[in-house]
Amino acid sequence: MNKIVIAIDGYSGCGKSSTAKAVAKDLGYTYIDSGAMYRAATLHFLNNFLSPSNPHDVEKGLKSMEISFHLNPDTLIQETYLNGLNVENEIRTMRISNKVSEIATIASIRKELVAQQQRLGRKKGVVMDGRDIGSVVFPHADLKVFMTADLETRAIRRQVELLEKGELVALEDIKANLAERDRVDSSRAESPLKKMEDAVEVDTSNSTFAEQVGKIVHAARQIIDKQASYAGNH
Ligand code: C5P
Repeated sequence: MNKIVIAIDGYSGCGKSSTAKAVAKDLGYTYIDSGAMYRAATLHFLNNFLSPSNPHDVEKGLKSMEISFHLNPDTLIQETYLNGLNVENEIRTMRISNKVSEIATIASIRKELVAQQQRLGRKKGVVMDGRDIGSVVFPHADLKVFMTADLETRAIRRQVELLEKGELVALEDIKANLAERDRVDSSRAESPLKKMEDAVEVDTSNSTFAEQVGKIVHAARQIIDKQASYAGNH
């Protein structure tokens, strides 16, 4: 069966990653979390006291940083590695969330990570989520999705997620972080977050997880079937 590329973009904390993961599982596709790569880059810069506003530091950081994904055989989830070390949990902490959008404004860092993301998606059969997937990484993606949800809903969901990992953060702090990341991500000069005209909008404020996954899988299957019948007729 033919395989497609699915690009899922949207605001911070509206459930892109968990939705994309479930869509990939349903279709038997590979899920790639592009945000994890920006988070790993942030960890690398912080750990090595490198400043994203100093071009020499950025060059040094990019040269000494190797980000990869490896499947965890127990959970069957792709986990993020930085220079050979599993950093999957560390990159989800507030320490990283508070710095990542600044790192993601730097053009040379984006260039490097986008090239890596494009290599990962070359074989199709991929669901990738982020902020610029439908606009820059895969502008010709077969299916583009733009996810939104109101700030309060996103903050409550994120608080539960952090708590499950043992980090208790005040709702107001989470709200401030999400709002600030939305602001920086949408207003930066380099590949800002925006809804593409050809993207399907999915608002998750009032839908169940199963509904939002179902909507995307349905849209994907329609495209896969359409491409298959087109190929059969030509
Ligand atoms: O998806 P997640 O919330 O983990 O992404 C963390 C941050 O990485 C975002 O707030 C954004 O600043 C940056 N990012 C980006 N482009 C992507 C994915 C993430 O700029 N494709």
